[in-house]
Amino acid sequence: MNSVRARDVAAKHGAEKLVLVASRRTDMPRFHLDEIIDGLNTGVFHPQPLMNPVFELAFTPGEIHSVGLWSQDYSLWLDRRGEVKYPYRYWYRFTLLPDDPAVKPVAPPLAEQLRQIEILARADGPDAVNVCIDPLFRYRPIGESEWRDPFTPEFLDEVMRGCSAAGITRVTISLIDYYRKVEERACRFGIEFFYTDKKTPGGIEAGICMGMKVKSAAGRYGIGLRSCCEPGLVDAGIARKGSCTDGRLLNSLFGAGASERPDPGQRRKAGCGCTLSMDIGRYAEYGPMSHHCGHDCPQCYARR
Ligand code: SF4
Repeated sequence: MNSVRARDVAAKHGAEKLVLVASRRTDMPRFHLDEIIDGLNTGVFHPQPLMNPVFELAFTPGEIHSVGLWSQDYSLWLDRRGEVKYPYRYWYRFTLLPDDPAVKPVAPPLAEQLRQIEILARADGPDAVNVCIDPLFRYRPIGESEWRDPFTPEFLDEVMRGCSAAGITRVTISLIDYYRKVEERACRFGIEFFYTDKKTPGGIEAGICMGMKVKSAAGRYGIGLRSCCEPGLVDAGIARKGSCTDGRLLNSLFGAGASERPDPGQRRKAGCGCTLSMDIGRYAEYGPMSHHCGHDCPQCYARR
């Protein structure tokens, strides 16, 4: 198996240290936490980029700038973070969706997620917690004519109130994108999505309308919106261009060392502002290296 050193990857990123992300590919903090804890303690991870073989990433704690944990449920992390022997710096991308079993079949209820946000913000600082309502969409059970919008004013108000109480001043939003695998998975769940794109009649307008609703709720609590790959929302003045991995912010939070170069592996044409990092997740769904995600979100882009 090919092995790379974190300091060599960081040098290629034009940086002193490497930013780790766990993970865009699966919910590691909820379903693969042993691997995160063991890896941080032993200095070895086994990432697998899309369509590439698994490789070994070796590191000492001093080669790592910070560790980004991406999840819908940090309950296990909050219980077990003390098992990591070294003083890493952590930041979070916390996805929130409404408590509608059709779109959030497994992840915890919003009230529990807001409780976790409050604890993370207290432990690691509110700016280290990037709350994402991601993605916004409408759906309908197959056979019904009316679209349902689960992002109700009550949901949005509860999110913004909880974020504000935790000291959080920015929330990230995105709109659902069409992927054939998403449409097929939704079909198996007995639903279909309304896409806010040019191909859907009224799609662009609906996307702006959804964004405006979020902006209005956020504004009541002094929260600014960032977009994840949504130039239309930026152009409409609803959100500022966002970066889920933001080297400049990470350097200001945790001290210099992280790359501030744009990540060419992300959807830059779609407005992604992420900077270079290394994702330690794998797309494998089965076998000994499986990173299967048990959250089973019908709108998941990551799973095959
Ligand atoms: S099913 Fe997909 S969208 Fe849902 S938590 Fe897992 S990786 Fe994320």
